[in-house]
Amino acid sequence: MIKAISLLSGGLDSILASRLILNQGIKIEAVNFTSVFYSGSEEQACLPAKTAAQAMGISLKIFDISRELFGIIKNPQHGYGRNINPCIDCHAFMFKKAYEYMKEIGAGFLVTGEVLGERPMSQRKDALELIDRHIGLEGFILRPLSAKLLTPTIPEEKRWVDRDKLLDIKGRSRKPQIELAKEFKITDYPTPAGGCLLTDLGFANRLRDLIKYKQDFSVTDVYFLKIGRHFRLTENIKLVVGRNDRENKRLLYLAQPGDICFRPVSTKGPVAVAKGILDSAHISAAASIVARYSDKLQDSRMIEVEYRKLPGSVAATVVTAPAPDLSLEKIRI
Ligand code: SF4
Repeated sequence: MIKAISLLSGGLDSILASRLILNQGIKIEAVNFTSVFYSGSEEQACLPAKTAAQAMGISLKIFDISRELFGIIKNPQHGYGRNINPCIDCHAFMFKKAYEYMKEIGAGFLVTGEVLGERPMSQRKDALELIDRHIGLEGFILRPLSAKLLTPTIPEEKRWVDRDKLLDIKGRSRKPQIELAKEFKITDYPTPAGGCLLTDLGFANRLRDLIKYKQDFSVTDVYFLKIGRHFRLTENIKLVVGRNDRENKRLLYLAQPGDICFRPVSTKGPVAVAKGILDSAHISAAASIVARYSDKLQDSRMIEVEYRKLPGSVAATVVTAPAPDLSLEKIRI
């Protein structure tokens, strides 16, 4: 029996593309890619793909490509999109990974929900086919929703797939897909809950700063980038300040041995985590930032801030005035 791999995001297009191939009696296994750069929670990350695979009764293999993406982000062959998103290389990597898996399980081709002209540049006919050729997968990637507008692929030429039953959808209108969803009685298709943070300007600035000062960054470093206010005190010292109770707890959870945790003593305020080697001047500077985001005391401008080096060193305190906003803007990442 012919088998195919579907790159299943869980969005409507990828569900429809999979359905069109399943309806031709071809067995499908789905793959989905996740990474630390997903903006939603870890539980949410693969939920649409899991839900879609379950509804179609197909198996799903999830690849976490965080570490591979680190290398791509640091050195993208085809550069970045608007922010720090190396989409061309990232796409190529995902296709190659899916292709390797295709060979591993003895499948014959890949299926994607891409639609011709849905995005102005990357989904033009010549761009799609150029990318396929460039990554050495020419003919292996079938795009059932637009197949009739594209050059026949290997599964069509070998007649594993009936080209006549594939579609000729193009452009940004979602109408044909919504009609097809009705025809297939697909009523429950999730809208993606998060996006790729590499396309977000604020996150991109933080990541650029991380790469500049720590080339060999870790997944935990990226988790830190997703929360709090970030301040670069020196080339080697960074301070992350929680913005609410959830972030305060998360910072304490993420803090690593060697990090220094700060919190105000007798007023409400944030948890902050400093990374790097801090002398007494750095401790004072970090404490004054914590004081800036703490509740004011009625009778004094000064705030006592506790700090403790992980793991388990004895807490010490420093009494400080809040840092002025102007000075913070200069060091904010
Ligand atoms: S948006 Fe993010 S995940 Fe998607 S291709 Fe671009 S870099 Fe990769």
